[in-house]
Amino acid sequence: MASLASVLIIGDGTAGTVVANKLKFLAGKRAEVRVVGNSQRHYYKGDFMFIPLKLKDYKECYKPPEFLFNAGIDYVKEEVVRVNVDQRLVTLRSGRTLSYDYLVIASGARLAPEEVPGFEGEARHFYTLQRAMELQEYMDSFQGGNLVIGQCAGPISYPSSTFEFALMARDYLESKGLLQKSKIHFLMPSLGIYSDSSTAGKIASLLGSKGIEVHKEFEVNTVNPKNKEVISVKGEKLNYSLLVAVPPHRGQRFVKDSSLGDDMGFIEVDRNTLNLKEHPEVFVAGDAAKLPIDKTGSAAHFQATYIANRIAMEVGGNYTPSTYMGENAFNAATSVGRGMTFYSSYSSSPKATFESMSDFLIKWTYSSTYFSSVVRGLI
Ligand SMILES: Cc1cc2nc3c(=O)[nH]c(=O)nc-3n(C[C@H](O)[C@H](O)[C@H](O)COP(=O)(O)OP(=O)(O)OC[C@H]3O[C@@H](n4cnc5c(N)ncnc54)[C@H](O)[C@@H]3O)c2cc1C
Repeated sequence: MASLASVLIIGDGTAGTVVANKLKFLAGKRAEVRVVGNSQRHYYKGDFMFIPLKLKDYKECYKPPEFLFNAGIDYVKEEVVRVNVDQRLVTLRSGRTLSYDYLVIASGARLAPEEVPGFEGEARHFYTLQRAMELQEYMDSFQGGNLVIGQCAGPISYPSSTFEFALMARDYLESKGLLQKSKIHFLMPSLGIYSDSSTAGKIASLLGSKGIEVHKEFEVNTVNPKNKEVISVKGEKLNYSLLVAVPPHRGQRFVKDSSLGDDMGFIEVDRNTLNLKEHPEVFVAGDAAKLPIDKTGSAAHFQATYIANRIAMEVGGNYTPSTYMGENAFNAATSVGRGMTFYSSYSSSPKATFESMSDFLIKWTYSSTYFSSVVRGLI
C-alpha cells in the first residue's frame, strides 16, 4: 500500500475503539484512522447485570466516547446509513460520504423487543442502562413468587449473562429473606455456550445445586401479559410473577439496507481472516459478525487486536499471513462473591476454571481495567 492508507471504522463501541487505538499505535503515520460512531456514551455493559441487584453504582459503567480515543484519531459523531463495498463508500445520515482503503465494521447489535409479541412493557431486562435501573425497582418491590430468567430466540450478546443473573438474584433474594417464598426458573437456550453438552451440564448442575429450576431448550417466543405466561419456541408454557428476558438481537439497519447481512442482519465473514467474502479490505469485528462463537466483549477484543495487527502489517509493507482462531475468554459470576473463567476457541469447546472469589472480583472491578487499558488498546 503506497503512502498514507485511509482506515475507516464504523462503530465507537468495544471493537471499534480497540481497533482504532491499537492501529494508531502500531501504524503511526502510515495510516489515517477515522471512526464514525453515534453513541452518546460508551458503556461497559458487563456492569449492567450488577445494577438491578444494587451491586454496583451506575456511574462507573460509562464514559464519553471522545475521551477514549488516543491522539491522532479522527472521530466523526454521525450515523452510518449505507455502505457500498464495491465503490468503497460509506454514507452518513447527513448525506456526507466517506471513502476508505480499509473498512472495519464494528457496529454491534441492536435490541429488537418488538419482534416478540407481548414482550414490550411486560418483560424486564438489563441490556441497557435504563432497563437495568428499571429492573432494580422491580427487584426491589418483588415480594416472592416465580422469578423467570431467560432470553428470546436467536444469538444474543453475552449469553451467559442470564445464568449469572439467576445465580446472583438467588443470593439477592436470600439476603432479603425472600428465598423461601420464591422459585427461580432459568430458561436455558440451546445456542452457543449452551450447545456444548458438557458446559450446559455444568451450568445446569450449578443452578440446580442452588435450587434454581432449569428448563432446557426454552427460548422465549411469546409473552402473554394477561395470563402472566411465557411461551417457548417449542410451545412450552411457564407462569411468572416477574419475567426477566433478554430481547432478540439484530444487526444494525444499515447492514440490511446495504445487503451485507443475513436475515437477522449479522454479517457473514471468513472465520479466520474476519474479511467479507471477496473483500480483503473489509473486516467485521464484534457483535456485528456472524461467527461460530458467542458474541462477547472478550471475543470483540481478540478480533479487534487481530484486525489492527493485520492492517498495520499491510500498511507497513511487512505482511505475514496470520489467522484469528476464535479465541474467547470471560469471567462469569456464579454467586455474589464467586465466579469462574470460561475459555474457548474454534478448536476447543468452552472449558471452565474452578469457582473462586478472585474470578468474581476481577469481573466486579473490570470496568476500571476496561476504560483505562482495554479500550485504550494497551492490552
Ligand atoms: C448486559 C451485558 C453484559 C455483558 N457482559 C460481558 C462480560 O462480562 N464479558 C464480556 O466479554 N462481554 C460482555 N458483554 C458483551 C459485550 O458488551 C459485547 O460483546 C461488546 O460490547 C461488543 O462490542 P461491539 O464493538 O461489537 O459492539 P458495541 O460495543 O455495542 O459497539 C457498537 C457501536 O456501534 C455504534 N453504531 C451502531 N450502529 C451505528 C451506525 N449506524 N452508525 C454509527 N455507529 C453505529 C453504536 O453506537 C456502538 O457504539 C455483555 C453485554 C451485555 C449487554
